[in-house]
Amino acid sequence: MTAASSALPQHFDEIYQSIPARVTLIAVTKFLPTETIRAAYERGVRHFGESRVQEAIAKQAQLTDLPDITWHLIGHLQTNKARKAVEHFDWIHSVDSLKLAQRLDQAAQEMGRVPQCCLQVKLVPDPPKSGLDLAELDDLLPELDQLAHLKIRGLMAIPPQGASAATVRDVFCGARGLGDRINQQGFDRLHIDQLSMGMSGDYAEAIACGATMVRLGTVLLGPRPSSA
Ligand SMILES: *Cc1c(COP(=O)(O)O)cnc(C)c1O
Repeated sequence: MTAASSALPQHFDEIYQSIPARVTLIAVTKFLPTETIRAAYERGVRHFGESRVQEAIAKQAQLTDLPDITWHLIGHLQTNKARKAVEHFDWIHSVDSLKLAQRLDQAAQEMGRVPQCCLQVKLVPDPPKSGLDLAELDDLLPELDQLAHLKIRGLMAIPPQGASAATVRDVFCGARGLGDRINQQGFDRLHIDQLSMGMSGDYAEAIACGATMVRLGTVLLGPRPSSA
């Protein structure tokens, strides 16, 4: 790896500092080398997001000297990788089915871990994307509330590709309203205090609607390799 490929973009600090203190910045490093993670870490970033379990495990093995990183899984997770995800991530943002949640809960129990979780929700129809729509979510909440080894405390919302500004706002502000409505139901465990929303193209809107975690890749770290 050459020095140039691991350098952070010039505007890194400007973007980093523009994120309000109440919002957790997750640097999304999928397809980027561990040198980029180290460089961002040196500037103060402690939250990193990866979309694939195997890729993250390989990087973590090279970063064992940085023990205070919080790892976030932000990509779709297959149930057969639930165990590895629980083992290697502190946060799982992409809980998109009851079956996956149950597998995660079981793995967490066996490993004595308590992963922090977000439910990935679809506020507007978006066929190519995974996520729970509102009707599904309503049905599943009581069962999700039973999962004693998961800390389900967030919603992840992603607007459809190419959505209008109005739709982007509907999705982000809708997620906030959804969190409030879930909390009003007074579940035993499930309480939403995190909104994972906002990527490079729309994080300002997400923050305006109440995002508590933004997931920034290209705007912060530069373009990913095009093979991605
Ligand atoms: C890749 C990815 C991001 C970061 O995307 P950018 O547009 O590069 O900021 C955020 N969230 C998820 C779920 C992703 O897959």
